[in-house]
Amino acid sequence: MTARELLKIVVVGHVDHGKSTIIGRLLYDTKSVPEAAIERVKRICKEKGRPFEYAYLLDALEEEQKQGITIDTTQIKFSTPKRDYLIIDAPGHKEFLKNMISGAANAEAALLVIDAAEGVQEQSKRHAYILSLLGIQKVYVIVNKMDMIGFSEEKFKEIKYEISSFLDKLNVYPQKYIPVSAFLGENITRKSDKMPWYKGEPLLEALDLFEKDKELEDKPLRFPIQDVYKFDQRRIIAGRLESGRLKAGDEIKILPEGKVSKVKSIEFWPENNNKNEVMAGMSVGITIEDEFFNKRGEIIVHKDDNTLYVSDTFRANLFWLGKKNLVRNKTYKLKLVTQETECEIISIDKVIDATTLETIENANEVRTNDVAEVTIKTKEKICFDEFKANSSTGRFVLVDGYDVSGGGIVSGLADLKEEVT
Ligand code: GDP
Repeated sequence: MTARELLKIVVVGHVDHGKSTIIGRLLYDTKSVPEAAIERVKRICKEKGRPFEYAYLLDALEEEQKQGITIDTTQIKFSTPKRDYLIIDAPGHKEFLKNMISGAANAEAALLVIDAAEGVQEQSKRHAYILSLLGIQKVYVIVNKMDMIGFSEEKFKEIKYEISSFLDKLNVYPQKYIPVSAFLGENITRKSDKMPWYKGEPLLEALDLFEKDKELEDKPLRFPIQDVYKFDQRRIIAGRLESGRLKAGDEIKILPEGKVSKVKSIEFWPENNNKNEVMAGMSVGITIEDEFFNKRGEIIVHKDDNTLYVSDTFRANLFWLGKKNLVRNKTYKLKLVTQETECEIISIDKVIDATTLETIENANEVRTNDVAEVTIKTKEKICFDEFKANSSTGRFVLVDGYDVSGGGIVSGLADLKEEVT
C-alpha cells in the first residue's frame, strides 16, 4: 500500500476575516468532522439564537479529540480524492513561528485570507511578511465575505490590485486569488453561481493544484558524517541521509574540502531493507575506496553536484529564545546537521516582535521571542543549502554558552561573490 500524499497548509490573515469559518466549511463539506461535533455546534448556535457557525467546528473538533486517548494535539485533516490535507494550527503566532523555524511544524503552502469589505489590514501585511520570511512560496489569496460586497467583480478587482501591490514588495507572488463567501459556502467546495464572472476553481479544487515539493529522497544527496569507526581494517563512515539516495559504486565528493571518491560498500543497513540503495531518513554506514581522513561534520554529496554552498557567511531568519539578548560580535556556537563551529552575528538587519509582529526600528539586539533577519559569519567554512531548497541542511541552531538559544533558516548567501563549490 502506498501512503497517500499529504500537504500541510497554514491559514493566515487578520482576525475576524474568516479563517476559522473557511476551515470549518472545508471540514464540513468534505465530511471530515464527526457527527457529534456537528451536533454540538448546532446545539450551541441554537442556544445563542444564531445561524450555524462553521468556525465553531474547530473548537468542537478539539473537544471530540480530547476525549480520545491517543491524540494530544488537534489534528485538522481533510481529504480530496487526490491527497490528504493537514491544517497547521497557528494558535499563537509566536508558537507558529517557533515551530516553523525549529522544524516542529512544516507548512508547505498558505492561504492568506482577506475580508472583502475591510480589505488589507495591518495584520494581513504582517502575516504576508511572515510567509516571505519562512520562504513559503505557494500562496493563494482568499477574498472572503464576498456576500458583503454584493459579489461584485469590480470590487474584487480593486481588492486584488490593492493586495498584489503590497505583496509584490515582499516578493510574495500568489498563484491564485479566489473570491469566496465561507459563510454561504460560495466557491469553497462548489463553484458559485453568484459569481459567474469568476472563471477559476473553487477553493478545494484549487488546493489540489498546489504542486507538492519534491520528496527529500528525490532531492540531491546530503549525507552528513556523524562518525567514522574503525572496524577490522575498514573505516566505516556512519550517518543519516538527510536527502537523496546512495548506492555502492556511486561517485561522491566530500565537502567542504571537495575530496572525490567512490562508495565501495554499504556496510550496515537500516532494518527491513532489502534494496541495494539507501535513501533520505535512513541511518547507514558506508565504506569508500580512498582512505581519506574523514571526520564528523563533513557532508557527502554526489560528485557532479555543485548545489551545496560552502561559505563562512550567509543570511538567515532566526527565532531567538535565549535568556540573554542576541548581540553582534559575540561568539555563539552554530550547529547545522552534524557541523559545529563558532560564529558571530555580523549584522542585524530587521527585528520583529513575534507576538505583535511589529517591526522594531533600529534594533541592535534581538530579545527573547523576537524574530530577526541577520547575517552570520562562521569561524570555519560550512556547508549549507537555502532552506527553500532543502529544509534539513538549510536549518541551524545557535548555542549561547551551554543553552540552545535560537533556531534559524538560511535565506541565502550573504554575498553573491561567495564561492559555490
Ligand atoms: P477568524 O478570526 O479569521 O478565524 O474569523 P472567523 O472565521 O471566526 O469569522 C469571523 C466572523 O466573520 C464570524 O462571525 C463569521 O460568521 C463571519 N464570517 C466568516 N465568513 C463570512 C462570510 O463569508 N460572510 C459573512 N457575511 N460573514 C462571514
